[in-house]
Amino acid sequence: MPTGNAQETRITDWLASREGDMIALLEKLVNTDSGSYDKAGVDAVADHLREFLEAEGVACEQFAIDTHGDALRATVPAPGQGGNRPILLMGHRDTVFPKGEPDRRPFRIDNGIAYGPGVADMKAGLVMNAFLLAVFARFGGAPAPMVGLFTGDEEIGSPTSRPYIEAEARNACAVFNSEPGRLSGNVVTGRKGGIFFHCEVTGKAAHSGANFQDGVSAVEELARKIQAFHALTDLERGQTINVGLISGGQSVNTVAPHAECQIDLRYVEPDDRGPIVDAIKRIVRECSVEGTSASVRIIGEFLPLKQSPQAKALFDQYVGNARDIGLSVGGEFSGGCADSGFAAAVGAPTVCGTGPIGSKAHSPEEFLELNSMVPRAQALALTVLRLA
Ligand SMILES: [Zn+2]
Repeated sequence: MPTGNAQETRITDWLASREGDMIALLEKLVNTDSGSYDKAGVDAVADHLREFLEAEGVACEQFAIDTHGDALRATVPAPGQGGNRPILLMGHRDTVFPKGEPDRRPFRIDNGIAYGPGVADMKAGLVMNAFLLAVFARFGGAPAPMVGLFTGDEEIGSPTSRPYIEAEARNACAVFNSEPGRLSGNVVTGRKGGIFFHCEVTGKAAHSGANFQDGVSAVEELARKIQAFHALTDLERGQTINVGLISGGQSVNTVAPHAECQIDLRYVEPDDRGPIVDAIKRIVRECSVEGTSASVRIIGEFLPLKQSPQAKALFDQYVGNARDIGLSVGGEFSGGCADSGFAAAVGAPTVCGTGPIGSKAHSPEEFLELNSMVPRAQALALTVLRLA
């Protein structure tokens, strides 16, 4: 247990005393269906958070988004410290699961482990951030205003919430993205960037028996392009290209007039983005099956989380504060993408994976270690209190 001053003790004690309420709110959020394309459900998660926050005296505002979940923004002022740049706590309310998943697999607890869709990724992080805002609204002590941003479309690349994330991060002195902590207890200090592409190839239909030579095969052209895309993989640079979806053709006995695929590019270094995107576009442009043409567009994108010296300093502070709570925390790199990349890319010192500990995200086995809720909240609270 922490051995800090009275204010630190008051705050960490209050968080510990609210564990049951944290779990109750988590249950409510997990049982609220909120796949990325289910706007009503993602907004219902916002309603639950807002209800809790407003009852705790935390002011909320909501930015309406037509196509995906609204952006919910909660603020805790810091009297006398208003001139300082805010501390930003971020999280996403959407999950990857199809509609009806919480009915099939509702929240449950077995032996201290919680299960259910999005329990770790990242409804527990949302709960933690909400309680952090609540405790500072109640007791004060933060050296800067706090902003909680709860967005609704991270799992599909944050197409509509990215501008809200970037605007808040640009203004923030520190950003904590409460994606799940790793089983080791580690947080995430680096992430790959990722781009999803949709590529379409056009050929010409013909009867593949009677008029074979009149046809131009889009499937053949796409097959050649797939080879070329995959050849761009450079594991040493941490650069991978995966064609994860293909489709095309009209019938087995028709020369295919159409084919398409989706490509997932991952890379580490921000400067690698330009050349590799150019290389993909070149492969798309240059068709080797005569008579075909092709086009490509970006349908989703995450920027890499690259640790700046300021982010390293923030991480070091977090690690020290977590140690005072009795947690041993290190930093690790993940090939998975997250909103923290957008925050880091605009220059905000950012630490990701500060949420409670869980694993097996995006699968039916996803779980959360319930006894990590309070200590992870306490570690973040101390970090907020002690920010210079
Ligand atoms: Zn997530």
